[in-house]
Amino acid sequence: LLFPSRLKIVEHDFGDRTKFRQWLVDDGFRNNFRDPMGKEHVSCPIIWISKSLKDGDPDPADIEKYLGGYDKTLDWCRDFMEPADGADSKPEAVMVDDGHTPDHGYEYDLVVIGGGSGGMAAAKEAASLGAKVALCDFVKPSPKGTSWGLGGTCVNVGCIPKKLYHIGATLRESIHADANYFGISTLGTQLDDLGQLPTIQTESQWNVVKDNIQNYIRSLNFKYRVRLREKSVQYINKLATFKDAHTVELVDKKGRTSEVTASRFLVAVGGRPTPLDCEGADLAISSDDVFFLEKDPGKVLCVGASYISLECAGFLAGMSKDVTVAVRSILLRGFDRECSERIGNFMEQHGVNFKMKVTPSKLEKLEDDRIKVTFSDGSEDVYDTVLGAVGRTADTAKLGLEKVNVQTNPKNLKIVAKNEQSTCPNIYAVGDVMEGCPELTPVAIQAGILLARRLFGGSKEPMDYVNVCTTVFTPIEYSCVGLSEDDAIEKYGQDGIEVYHREFLPLEWSLSQNRHDSNAFAKIVVDKTAKERVLGIHYVGPNAGEVMQGYGISMKNGLTYRQLTDTVGIHPTSSEEIVTLAITKSSGEDAAAGGC
Ligand code: FAD
Ligand code: NDP
Repeated sequence: LLFPSRLKIVEHDFGDRTKFRQWLVDDGFRNNFRDPMGKEHVSCPIIWISKSLKDGDPDPADIEKYLGGYDKTLDWCRDFMEPADGADSKPEAVMVDDGHTPDHGYEYDLVVIGGGSGGMAAAKEAASLGAKVALCDFVKPSPKGTSWGLGGTCVNVGCIPKKLYHIGATLRESIHADANYFGISTLGTQLDDLGQLPTIQTESQWNVVKDNIQNYIRSLNFKYRVRLREKSVQYINKLATFKDAHTVELVDKKGRTSEVTASRFLVAVGGRPTPLDCEGADLAISSDDVFFLEKDPGKVLCVGASYISLECAGFLAGMSKDVTVAVRSILLRGFDRECSERIGNFMEQHGVNFKMKVTPSKLEKLEDDRIKVTFSDGSEDVYDTVLGAVGRTADTAKLGLEKVNVQTNPKNLKIVAKNEQSTCPNIYAVGDVMEGCPELTPVAIQAGILLARRLFGGSKEPMDYVNVCTTVFTPIEYSCVGLSEDDAIEKYGQDGIEVYHREFLPLEWSLSQNRHDSNAFAKIVVDKTAKERVLGIHYVGPNAGEVMQGYGISMKNGLTYRQLTDTVGIHPTSSEEIVTLAITKSSGEDAAAGGC
């Protein structure tokens, strides 16, 4: 740091404001200065970077950068010493030489195995950088015989159908709970005997929503094929298996085989639902089947308590089904505990039954085709549909990876990779199939694009898997970025963090008498240094994904509490609650906010 009258490089921990002030005074800085506007500052130095080494009060002409008092200077020093994550530091991906040369002699520069989020993105990017690319995608039917088109999990049996069902369920909930209070009613606006507006009765028709969603998805399958063609990526609708490090064997629907060779391969085969492990497990369906059911699922048991089980339970209950969730341990392991509990409470209040601390031990088909389930605690119940959602397993079992020395994790069959490069240097992996990769579509896409740029565009930019935003689309949505309160305590200690929180009634729910027990909630977790760097942001409420996306950008750039609260909110929104969070958990003050 260049201070007046001396040049000094500071390389130590500045500590807090008091320590920093003492350090300045000990080091001979005067306590009083006159600022460039002529104002005297007593016992509070102002600090600037001067162009020359002049001593004394600052001369405006000599000031290169005006820093301000202790706090501003401390902030500046910290930024100078530790640039915001990803701001000034540019990490480079160090890759092992994979032997690729322009005249390699194979049919393709790159063959991508798997036409899902990651594979499609990487194939199109590599082709637009001039590489000769082929993409193999083949859907193995689920054990129930369900199959689908190009685009992978997200488009066919994941994000897209799930979110559309969720939108439908949310719509029904709004009609049911709120519409009357906005004067929108099919039953008139007469108050009932209790002085309440009557509730609109809604019944959802399974086949209408299923057919509309499936038609939309088919249109997406078609568009993906067109986009591959536009980008000159050769689409091969065949199942690929490694023969050697530069050759894969291809099998089509009719069992006919062929081969294709490439200098580089990208494995982006994703994962498939892990089956239940109890007696009669084959009676259960999975998320691969639920969006295709020909008949109304009726009374449903969802087994598992993470994203997929809770989201499916949420939209099925929202579509007026009788739904129970079997929870082995806790809801949403790995997420913020307080937020997860709020989701459970909300779902319970909105008609989802929870059976805690149980797993199914036996499934039996009854004469009427219903399924009798015996649980680990000895209890029994009968359901029309049992949906297993107990995690996903990487789809690598029959890929021939052992022939090409690609190491996998025996527990989940995921490919071990560094900078997306596997233990066989010319074979890469992105998306759900890669060990350590969050199983999220945008992560697979980003990793695929960045890898293609490194392989064919001269880039060295690695994929950054830290501070990825995610949303759980449960009936009350939950979105977060960064650390949960629990993980922050584990990392920094209870005394090393502070939590700012607020519970509030979103304006869109404020007219409805039915909503007054369903508050939204926002909280941020900060470290307890003077800068109060934001470690995690959590929001439970309407439109959570839309609320959180922008905050993700700030988190990538080292957001501080001060920067957050310096930001003027947009009123009236739920998102503004995050930039106005002021009640600390440690104060013990009630987190419930008043209106406006
Ligand atoms: P995939 O999309 O799974 O694609 C892999 C492709 O490879 C498939 O088409 C497969 O058939 C094909 N394949 C497999 N083996 C071979 C082979 N040997 N030869 C040729 N082709 C092969 N993520 C979000 O971000 N937001 C959400 O809201 C969300 N919701 C989800 C809901 C559900 C129910 C599920 C199951 C997942 C959800 N996800 C969500 C996760 C998201 O879908 C995945 O993270 C994403 O699809 C992973 O992309 P991928 O490219 O790694 O693999
Ligand atoms: P997860 O691996 O996240 O969770 C598995 C759940 O099943 C846990 O609740 C686990 O309980 C439970 N479980 C595991 N084994 C058993 C068993 N034998 N019996 C009963 N319960 C069991 O899997 P999901 O299938 O929910 O999701 C997979 C991934 O897909 C997610 O991690 C996510 O990345 C992605 N996804 C993303 C979505 C989004 O972005 N909105 C939506 C859906 C999926 P326990 O805690 O006790 O281990």
